[in-house]
Amino acid sequence: MREGDGGGTLDLLVRDVRAVSVLTGEAVPADIAVARGRIVSLRPLGGGVEARRVVDGGGRYALPGFVDAHMHIESSFLTPAAFAPAALARGTTTVAADPHEIANVAGEAGVRAMLRASRGLPLSVFFLVPSCVPSVPGLETSGGEIGAAEVARLLRHPRVLGLGEVMDYRGVVTGDARIAAILARARRAGRRVRVEGHAPHLVGEDLERFMAAGVVTDHTDNSDAAWLEKMRLGMFAELQAKSIRPSLIAAMASLPLLPPFALVTDDVATDTLVAEGHLDRVARLAVAAGLPPLAAVRAMTLWPALHLGLTDRGRLSPGLRADMVLCDDLASLAPSLVVAGGQVVARDGRPTLPPRPAAPVWDAFRHSLRLAPGRRSFAPAEFAWRVPGPPGRRRMPAMAWRPTDNRTAAAEVVLDVGADGEVHWPGHASLVRVIERYSGREGSASAPLLGLSWQDAAVATTYAHDSHNLLVVGSSPAAMAAAATAVLETGGGIAVARGERVLARLPLPLAGIMSDAGADAVAAAAAEVRRAMEAVGYRHANPFMSVATLSLLVSLERKLSDRGLVDVDRRAFTPEPYGRPL
Ligand code: FE
Ligand code: FE
Repeated sequence: MREGDGGGTLDLLVRDVRAVSVLTGEAVPADIAVARGRIVSLRPLGGGVEARRVVDGGGRYALPGFVDAHMHIESSFLTPAAFAPAALARGTTTVAADPHEIANVAGEAGVRAMLRASRGLPLSVFFLVPSCVPSVPGLETSGGEIGAAEVARLLRHPRVLGLGEVMDYRGVVTGDARIAAILARARRAGRRVRVEGHAPHLVGEDLERFMAAGVVTDHTDNSDAAWLEKMRLGMFAELQAKSIRPSLIAAMASLPLLPPFALVTDDVATDTLVAEGHLDRVARLAVAAGLPPLAAVRAMTLWPALHLGLTDRGRLSPGLRADMVLCDDLASLAPSLVVAGGQVVARDGRPTLPPRPAAPVWDAFRHSLRLAPGRRSFAPAEFAWRVPGPPGRRRMPAMAWRPTDNRTAAAEVVLDVGADGEVHWPGHASLVRVIERYSGREGSASAPLLGLSWQDAAVATTYAHDSHNLLVVGSSPAAMAAAATAVLETGGGIAVARGERVLARLPLPLAGIMSDAGADAVAAAAAEVRRAMEAVGYRHANPFMSVATLSLLVSLERKLSDRGLVDVDRRAFTPEPYGRPL
């Protein structure tokens, strides 16, 4: 691509493109003229027009910048300043982020830090106020809480578009007072406030109650039938990678009208972001599953922009923001040039702007691990698991792990309990322990995990949904102690150990969930952790999420918090957590 410096009144002229109208589906020869960050014209202008910067589009397609309607910046392990160039390089120019990970660590202060740290970035960052922090009250210990008062304050911020995913769908359906008060505040906020949902497989009367409470989206994975029911009732479907499959695309295409929906990213780890892409990756998956490319483009431009009420973007139109993506073909959607707010921000998948250091606002979020005073390491003996009750064989409740998704089913395992109450689990099950890391008291709970075949290995992480306590999962006390110690040494993060040896670590020193490094460095460390997990036998379609959701109390079906084993659907602790004598 050639470019030159002109000196006219236009700030940018992108010559010779095929501008895609996401309203009509046509690709029309165009020169795109930009002034003060806005598109002023799409007509072919011919020669003689000057601009401060001229870019030759080489006949490529020009699309509107991609809009991600549901995502969590923290899941990239990056600060907003480090996330922005990586996302822009992949064509994402606007995100609506739900900062519920930092909110679980630091409450309203964490959300405000995200707001400050994302101000003035070339990526447009909007927010949704986290609605379920902690995810289920009374069942886990989080570092921060968001109640109705915090919601009311945060909704006043001009970059806040609504309420983030209402994950406590059971609470909505059963009339829980906390979530009812939060939803009431959102309704009273005095302007159009979007309420995002999270309701896997919710259908029928419960779904209607959920929607009647004001919730307008879902982005969890649903059966095809449940998705169609949601779309039919007017829910805005947000399809992330795990929901994209040929049967769902075909079911949607067979409807008399293709309903509006959005492609979203939700949680994308840094190495996936850098190596495979962001929304462009989700679009490729959708096209491969049978979605026509233009429908994919519309689902990451026009529809999410309209849904979010961002009427200044989502299409290439005179007067709208000059956010655009140039690409060679619509099937691969690989961005060769990205413009955000009239500024060239990326070329050939790489950012062109100089990297920014982590904002000073994050300094207050270092040293966030409050474990027992003086703790420097963990000893293997600490990962012995002692339970009350008599010695002997017991049938104990457990979680059953699957290599394909994040569901851990309710299961049972027969284990021996020694005279001292010690459960002899090594060799029969893996152990999960969640250690509270906010008060210095280290309250913890343990549970057996079935289905993993790995020997003398462990993963420890402080990136553990949703409360981000210290979660350790392993097949031997020695490896669990080594991994937990490694995480402690870096002030939070993820570590993999085999025996006493630490194989890989990803330091996340900011609030225990984010790195202070740039995307490339974090991607390399994340990829190394991923490889180490594979090497020790932890093979999963989405290894980071599968470990991080062992403690997610709104995910299916039995999970572990720092306070005990939880049966998600009942929103209650598992009865007889220490089992029954045989
Ligand atoms: Fe969710
Ligand atoms: Fe989400």
